[in-house]
Order: sequence, then structure tokens, then C-alpha cells
Amino acid sequence: MPPPDATAAYRRAEEPVEARVCDLLARMTLAEKIDQLHQVGVGDANPNNLSERREEFQPTFGSYVLNGAPDLALRNELQRRAVEESRLGIPAIFGADVIHGYRTIFPIPLAQACAWNPALVRRASRAAAEEAAAHGVDWTFAPMVDHCVDPRWGRVCETFGEAPFASSVFGTAAVCGFQDGEPSVAACLKHFAGYGASEGGRDYSYTDISPQRLWEAHLPPFEAGIRAGASTVMSGFNDLNGIPATANAYMLTEVLRTRWGFDGLVVSDSNAVQQLMRQGLAGDEAEAAQKALAAGVDIDMADGLYRAALAGLVTSGRVPLARVDTAVARVLRVKFEIGLFEHPWRLANALTAQPPAPVRLELAEEFARESIVLLKNTGVLPLAGGVRRVALLGPLAESRGALLGSWAMFGRADETPTIAEALREELPAGTTLRIEAGCDVAGTSAANFEVAVAAARDAEVAILCLGEEAEMSGENASRSTLRLAGKQEELALAVMATGVPVVVVLVTGRPLELGRIEPGAAAIVVAWQGGSRAAAALADALTGRCNPSGRLAITWPRSAEQIPVAHHVRPRARPDDAGAYRDGPTAPQYEFGHGLSYTTFTYSSIRLASATVAIGGRLRAELTVTNAGDRDGSETVLWFIRDPAASITRPLAELKHFEKAALCAGESRVYGWEIEPARDLAFPDADGRAVLEPGEIVVRAGPSAARFAVVAANPI
Ligand code: BGC
Repeated sequence: MPPPDATAAYRRAEEPVEARVCDLLARMTLAEKIDQLHQVGVGDANPNNLSERREEFQPTFGSYVLNGAPDLALRNELQRRAVEESRLGIPAIFGADVIHGYRTIFPIPLAQACAWNPALVRRASRAAAEEAAAHGVDWTFAPMVDHCVDPRWGRVCETFGEAPFASSVFGTAAVCGFQDGEPSVAACLKHFAGYGASEGGRDYSYTDISPQRLWEAHLPPFEAGIRAGASTVMSGFNDLNGIPATANAYMLTEVLRTRWGFDGLVVSDSNAVQQLMRQGLAGDEAEAAQKALAAGVDIDMADGLYRAALAGLVTSGRVPLARVDTAVARVLRVKFEIGLFEHPWRLANALTAQPPAPVRLELAEEFARESIVLLKNTGVLPLAGGVRRVALLGPLAESRGALLGSWAMFGRADETPTIAEALREELPAGTTLRIEAGCDVAGTSAANFEVAVAAARDAEVAILCLGEEAEMSGENASRSTLRLAGKQEELALAVMATGVPVVVVLVTGRPLELGRIEPGAAAIVVAWQGGSRAAAALADALTGRCNPSGRLAITWPRSAEQIPVAHHVRPRARPDDAGAYRDGPTAPQYEFGHGLSYTTFTYSSIRLASATVAIGGRLRAELTVTNAGDRDGSETVLWFIRDPAASITRPLAELKHFEKAALCAGESRVYGWEIEPARDLAFPDADGRAVLEPGEIVVRAGPSAARFAVVAANPI
């Protein structure tokens, strides 16, 4: 094949991107265009998806999913074929699911949110981008900013919790971390939109979302991510109110393009175009391809329907060529913008083969430490210096993979220290650590209870590691209950019956039902699926070398029977407990924002700079937090608002601002929030229009609340 014309406008980096896109588009045949909209998997570590056979790959294919074992040489070989063996030399773009780290695994996104530290999200995303780029990745299918309403949905672990504001902040931080810096990796906001409302928490299911809820809870994080410059968006698997997200023109064109001005590319979720048939929106493959493309899906991931059907659809006039051109232009634009034409190769560097450098593991450990949430503590933690006999029990005490969680296919379980190893290192010399699993995570045998109970009897304290295996949360990992699997609950009760203080450690991707074991637990610590350094971080928290500071970014239900339960519910019509459950508690096990420390923080009342704020003005709210204990610690102040009377009813609490800071023992610090009504107090109507009304607002932080009025103009 003769080399592509080096003088062509699209080849010249100095030309404006739009000129390069137009020039290249004008040179392409229909078949070449369609291949740019075709994406295939190169090996696939996601068992939910199938990949095509490598020998079928054509040099004209536009993009690949690199979820298999990292193989930079293969990636560059496929790229060589694209740039050297195709007529126009258009480089392919290589995507992968870099969700919470690449080689170095950071805490799952739900845990990241509990750290309330956007700077850490950004730094971790940057580190992941660097490692991923060194293995050939140009594009990550992250961040996921779905709004989850049911923690039985396995993908709750991939969310940044239940507050749309928090998802917006952390999603933005992730986009910036991936994209801003060298090497840059294109980000992908997913899954647009509403996938997190999967009915009954069952994956791939119907989602019934009122327009009001869609606009106020599901869409804001996407809008924020687009404002932050995300290059790409992935449409969801879900059927959204009768029009699957893959063929939803309102979402993909009206909202995304027309209202938000997004000019990047939209990729379908894996096989989702084909799934339009199963969902009942298309009778055959051609109709599925036609509907997805017409709605606004530019790249068809994995199922090959665009490649199979688009040429016929264009020739028969069922799909206008202009629509194909628009989609191809979006793909090319991203490729030009990320510099693929100038730098088609990802070059091996120190990160390609090495185990993670210490500096990356330190970052993972810092993040894991900050994401740990201390749910309960009767005083047993931190472990007293004099403790010499510790029983380390439970099926996750010696697990490696469970600490990494799902979407950790590029991480290495064999390099991940267990909780047992980390504790052995952390506990003072001379401490006896007796380790007994007691049972499996999901098994049915209680045969080893006795040895675990005996170990507890001999100990001054028992640390009981319970929870989930990595594959019990994530994609296609829905559960009907939040109960601990297998015999774990029974093991906990048996160990607690010894009377020895029991510290329950939860390694999990979702909140779990604790009702039966909570009363007997001396302490409960959520380590989540904390990543490569989860165990060391946990050991630090248990011994007090670090002071836990995580706070729940999701409401922790007592059981699945309470779902949906969240902090942003709307008020019931009748007061107090009218309407509450008559056969059990209505309040969750732990509220959104719950999280204890080894020190005590006291809050002053909220001080407002003024009792009113003009719609176009600003109002400063402040409070003073004092570390009243004798240990240093970090406190996150979460600021909520409530609009008690509005033209559309508003939730009882909406998170609108947060700030985390370290306070030495005895130190006081002023936390503040500059309230801007248009940004912080406006809410969307059912059509997404921002509504900002004069009237009273209640602002709350911790135990403290204050009121102010929004007025139409500055008062005289
Ligand atoms: C998941 C996506 C993922 C894609 C590619 C799908 O099954 O829903 O989140 O990015 O696979 O692996």
C-alpha cells in the first residue's frame, strides 16, 4: 500500500482540527467511514463480553477494547497495521476499563467517595492514566457517574455514592486526572443515562425514572463531566422509560448535543446495539443499527452491527450519509484532539513492565486510609498498646483478590498483601496473631467454626474479616439481599458469644445488612475493596497509626427491605412517624455522612454573613469545628440545603458543598461555603430548565442549622 499523502491537510498538525476532520472525511469511502464506527475487543478480561477473533481485525478498524492481558506489542502492531496498511493511515484508538487504577489498584469508586477528597481522586486517576498509557491505552471507559438507587445492584461499587453533587465533583476530578497531563488518556462518562436505576437492582434491567428525578439526580454528574471536558460518553444498557439508552434520541442528541453542546464521541455499551432487539425496540439487526445511529451512538462497541448493516442502510436511503459523516467526524475529532495522528504509538517506559513504584503504592495506601469508614466503636479501637493476643478471623483475613474488587484485571492479586500480613507487620513484636478463617465467604460449612471460636476465646480481641469476594459486586453481580453471604453471620454470632471484644472488618463493594451482628460488635470498620494497599491502610487504622476519617457517601440500609433509602428523600405528607414502617425501623442503619473518628469534633452554630442573599449575589456561611479530643484527625464538613417551600417540592436534604481538613488535637478551624444562588440553590424542572426562586432556605452542617432568604434583588 502506498503511504498516505503526507501533504494532505489532515496530515498537517498545524491545521485546525475542524479543517483536518473535513479534509479526511472528504477522502474516505463509505466502507472506511463505517470501519471508524466499529469497535472490537482484543482479548477480553470482562467475562460479560465476547471478543472477536484477532485474525479478523482489519487495518481500517477504528477502535479496540484492550481489556485482555496488557500487551503493548500487540497494541502497537495493530496500530502499525492501521497507520501503514490502510489507505488513509488513520490510527486506531485503544480503550480499556481503567476504573480504579491500572497496575496499582486504588479503592473502588464508592470508597473513593467516602474519602471526600477530590484531589486524591484526581491524583489516582492521573497515576492510572500514566500506567495505562504505558500499556497502550489511549482511552479509559471511566469515570462512571451513574446515580445508584439500589445497592443490590452490583455496580454500586463503581459509583461515587448517592449524592449527585458528590458524583459531579468526583467525576470531574477523575476526568481531569485522566485527561489533563502527559500522557493524556481520554475519559468516558458512563453510562448515559439512568443505568443506576436498574429495576430491583437487577443489572441490564428496565429503568423507570420520572423526568424530574432524571434531571435532578441522574444528569447533573454527566453535565459536570462534560463541562470538565470529557472527550467521550458511553450510552447505557438500560431501557429508559421505554426508549433504551442506546437509541434514546432525547438523551443522546437533544440533551447531550443540543443543550450541553457536547462535540465528542458517543460509544455504545458492549453489544448494546444488538441488545435493542432483545429489549424490544428493533425487529432485526439493521433496524437496531439504524435506531442507534439515528439517536446519536457514534461507535458500536463489540457487536459489529454497524459494520454489518450501515452500508445497506445508507444505500437504501434508510440512513442519510450525513448522519454517518457526523458520527465519523466525531470519532476523527477525538483522534486529532488527543494527538493520535502525530503520536500513534504508545512507547514502553519504566511503567510498562515494572511492579508499581513505591510512590504509587504510597498514593494507593493514602487513598485507602482516607476511604476507611469507622461505623461503630465502643472504645476497643484503636487497639490498646498492651494487647498481646489477637485472633484474626473470618474468610477474608487472608484474601488478596477480594481487596482489589471488580475491574482490577490489570492489578496483581499475588502482589497484594493480605490483612493478616499487614497486621503481622504492624502489631508490636511479641503479639500473637492467631489466624482462622472459620468459614468461606459463600460456603455452607460450619465445620471450622469451632477452631475460630477457640482462637477468639484465647485472645484479648478478635478481628473478624467479613464481606464479599471481588466478583460479588461489579457488573452482572446483583444480589437479592444485602445479607452477608454463606455462614458469615453465624460465624460472627458464634465468635461474639465468647464475650471477647469483636472488631468487625468489612471488605465489601456495597453496604451490607448488619442488624444481627451490629449489637454484638465492639467496633465495625469498612475497609471496602480498598485496592493494592488496602490491608496496610486497615492495619494503620486498627492500631491508631492513622485516625479514620471516611464518611459514608451512601446511606447504609438496615436491610434490602428498606430500599430505596437515601438522604435526599422528599418529605412525607404527614409528620413524625406517620407513614413509617409499623413492623420495623424506618431509619437506616447508618445515615449518609456517618463516620467516626478516634477524636471528637465539636461544631459551632452556623454563621451567615447576612440573613438574605440576592439571586445574583453571594452569601458566606461559616462554622467553627474544634478537635476536642486528644488525637489529631481530619473532619469533613458536609453542607446540605433544604428549600422548604418551592414551586416543585424539594428533598429534605441536598448535599451542596463539602470540605475536608486536618485538625490537630485541640485545634479549631473555620470551615466556609460561599453560597452562589444560581449555582447552589437552583433546581431543575422536569424539562431540565433551572428554577431559582425567592424564598427561605435552610442550610445544615453537622448538628447545626441556619436559615436565610433568597430575594429577587439586593435589599436596600
Ligand atoms: C460495561 C461497561 C464497560 C464495557 C467495556 C460493559 O459490559 O457495562 O461499563 O466499559 O463493558 O468493557
